[in-house]
Amino acid sequence: MNVSYELPLDDAAYSFGFLDEYAKREVRRTILKAICIPGYQTPYASREMPMGRGFGTGGLQVTLSLIGEGDTVKVIDQGADDSVNAVNLRHFVELTCPGVDTTERTTEASLIQSRHRIPEVALSESQVMILQVPYPDPLVVVEPSEARRKVMHGEADYSRLLTKLYEDIVQFDEITISHRYPTRINGHYVIDPSPIPRYDVPRLDNSPALILLGAGREKKIYAVPPYTRAEPLAFDDVPFRVEDFRDAQGARRPCARCGATDSFLDELIDDDGNKQWQCSDSDYCHSRLAEHDTIPGEAMS
Ligand SMILES: [Zn+2]
Repeated sequence: MNVSYELPLDDAAYSFGFLDEYAKREVRRTILKAICIPGYQTPYASREMPMGRGFGTGGLQVTLSLIGEGDTVKVIDQGADDSVNAVNLRHFVELTCPGVDTTERTTEASLIQSRHRIPEVALSESQVMILQVPYPDPLVVVEPSEARRKVMHGEADYSRLLTKLYEDIVQFDEITISHRYPTRINGHYVIDPSPIPRYDVPRLDNSPALILLGAGREKKIYAVPPYTRAEPLAFDDVPFRVEDFRDAQGARRPCARCGATDSFLDELIDDDGNKQWQCSDSDYCHSRLAEHDTIPGEAMS
């Protein structure tokens, strides 16, 4: 008896968006609830994806549940479209969503899935920003029990988190959190805004674009709806501040490629072992080079 185990290799091997319609419907219902309760970590039945958890399965499930005809998708990792994680997730979207366009241009995208960055260019009302989240709960550093954390969130009791920030100030003279800065949404729930740098936290505030955060392993989705307050936790006498990229003389470092002095910079080591700084948002850097034909370092003059 011959049994064939050959799998069909055409596009029909996947349903549109990989997830079945019931799964997508559940994710969309969860997103609606998350939008209704800004900052609340809404549980959902996270599905197995054909990639390891920790590679953006939460963000991808949100993206795949929202994609429809006419959408244009951009995927970035650490600000770059050409890093391994971003390239593979983009290929997966192209494979499972025939007819949907992908782009590297922030301004052309209707859905932007990202790990670690929010693009430099201001987003618009017609865009949805989807952030991949490893650890959704900012209280996990001060309370191991999820049941107790839920009560603390419900009562907006963040006193132990504030004590942790205060201890940082006592010990190091400043709050040392560089990523995942705890941020209060709409005056109540404090979220972990995924591993975006402090530099990007002000972009969450009053954003015209809907911001969705998906944690696949932890099975949570939460949202910062458009035009919603997002305030980083801070103290009256120790205000929140972002990375400023100043050199020893106090001058703002420019991007070594495009000369920008208004972007988040990555520190790189060149062939001679010298440090140099470049825009982390590769589309922003390319666009500036293309539009202004800037010579490197021009903005220094
Ligand atoms: Zn640049």
